[in-house]
Amino acid sequence: MSELFEVRDCKLGKGLFARKSIEAGETVLPFEGLVITTSQALEKGEKQSDPLQIGLNRYVDLQDPGRCANHSCDPNAGVNRDLQLVALRNIQPGEEICYDYSTTMGDGLWEISCHCGSTNCRNRIRDFRFLSREIQTHYLSLGVVQPYLAVEDLYKSSVPSLSHVRHR
Ligand SMILES: [Zn+2]
Repeated sequence: MSELFEVRDCKLGKGLFARKSIEAGETVLPFEGLVITTSQALEKGEKQSDPLQIGLNRYVDLQDPGRCANHSCDPNAGVNRDLQLVALRNIQPGEEICYDYSTTMGDGLWEISCHCGSTNCRNRIRDFRFLSREIQTHYLSLGVVQPYLAVEDLYKSSVPSLSHVRHR
């Protein structure tokens, strides 16, 4: 049990909620789980697995409580290269702690409809390369894009093909 947050039921199932004020830059939790491949992630299916992509053909099969962290298109947290969930701004007690799933997505396999309710909601959660360059640059400047996605070419060209991504 963390003193910073608790897992609570919410409209999307379960979510992480701040128990106390969390300051921008503070680590909320480390994401933990076994490292699995794309085919292992697909075999397990959506109900048994919550894969966070960390490289080409590499995922962390998230365990609780990290797997309870929900997506937001206007997130107050992000995942850094060491797989820590870090606060991007000050988070108030009771606020849900969310990150943008697109900052960890690059395999072209998953697309999720979004109901995060933020004013800038993109409606679909898709791979990092589909984000606008402005949003990509924003997340890159905060250091919360998985390193395998943070390749210069990837955000300079508007929509690189998947084969381009895979062969890097
Ligand atoms: Zn959204």
